[in-house]
Amino acid sequence: MGFDVHHIREQFPILKTTMHGKPLVYLDNGATTLKPKAVVDAIDHYYEEKTSNVHRGAYQLSSDATDLYEGARVKVRDFINARTENEVVFTKGATQALNLVAQSWGIHNLKAGDEILCSELEHHSSFLPWQYVARVTGATLKFIPLTEEGRITVENTKSVLTENTKVIAINYVSNVMGYIAPIKEIAALAHSVGAILTVDAAQALPHMKVDVQDLDCDFLSFSAHKMCGPTGTGVLYGKLDLLNVMEPIEFGGEMIDLVGDVTSTWKDAPYRFEAGTPVIAGAIGLGAAIDFIETVGYENIVAQELKLRQHAIAGMKEIDGLTIFNEGAETGIISFNVDGVHPHDMASIYDAEGICVRAGHHCAQPLMKWLCQPATVRASFYFYNTMEDVEAFLAATRQGKEFFSDVFF
Ligand code: PMP
Repeated sequence: MGFDVHHIREQFPILKTTMHGKPLVYLDNGATTLKPKAVVDAIDHYYEEKTSNVHRGAYQLSSDATDLYEGARVKVRDFINARTENEVVFTKGATQALNLVAQSWGIHNLKAGDEILCSELEHHSSFLPWQYVARVTGATLKFIPLTEEGRITVENTKSVLTENTKVIAINYVSNVMGYIAPIKEIAALAHSVGAILTVDAAQALPHMKVDVQDLDCDFLSFSAHKMCGPTGTGVLYGKLDLLNVMEPIEFGGEMIDLVGDVTSTWKDAPYRFEAGTPVIAGAIGLGAAIDFIETVGYENIVAQELKLRQHAIAGMKEIDGLTIFNEGAETGIISFNVDGVHPHDMASIYDAEGICVRAGHHCAQPLMKWLCQPATVRASFYFYNTMEDVEAFLAATRQGKEFFSDVFF
């Protein structure tokens, strides 16, 4: 069956709700996505029928829960084409995964004179862990210069790459600009000088097929909640030979091999990085989200997002005094400002119409500085949004523009 957005929407219970008496128009998918019933049901099934801890109990219920949890790991393995499920570490989100790489690999492998490359396009979760590592190890943090449009390119990465580069830490898709970075080519560059590449793919997995073997990245992090899955769950993919020599950063139950009074030894990856009771329900929910996304199909997801984005941009261009910062983006994000109106004021206008958008610095303050803006408005579309959503968004944009021109000018 072809892509039918109305059939898709029926599977998202929240889309039947209203906000301020208006139909809910959810355009903050960059922050988190809505959850289909299948994902909520999978989580409910675990809690209602399979609640027990994993890897522990010598009884059937625990073994069933372990099968569900480990089954989700296998789904992630296939989804991102990891070589083995042991390369898939469950975390509480992309932030924890990105920090894990910096805290474990970064702290133990870097020293003064080494260089870390990142960019002003990074989310704070991608950039701050390495700023900290640079401070405590004496390594130098360098920025890949962005193009005039605000992109990371191979050429610009080359311009700051040296024999001292040990880490490149960049995003795959920017949460503000929606640009896709040339990760495969940058992985090759990193490896040409013996550096590793760690990829923040939080905004990539929701929109595009990611094949870690094809990219040849060393680490890749993402969150379930940005791809129809539950909050509190994420994934760190890492090459197994790297993971298995990295020190854990959290210690506790289930991650040990042998515990002695003075020293202890750790299980192999992924378990050495999953201390304590893991994100069981979250991982099961992520598995259901993967099934859902695969059923919808990335080609349909991208086509719908881009159709909506194109229509929105065309409508926005007819409104005077709007600045769009990322007209050429390949994903469903539009970052913009209405001249003379604070983004938070615009967000209140949208909210009154039942429209959810994000206004602020989007956890990307270096990029706001680069854009010379204190903040922006961000509308981010996903495959369950409709042309009617775009029309409502455009009408509210016109209304906000007129309202604030009357008030202030
Ligand atoms: N990186 C990017 C590009 C993001 O958009 C986000 C979420 N806004 C994160 C990292 C962090 O994800 P989480 O908050 O789910 O840990």
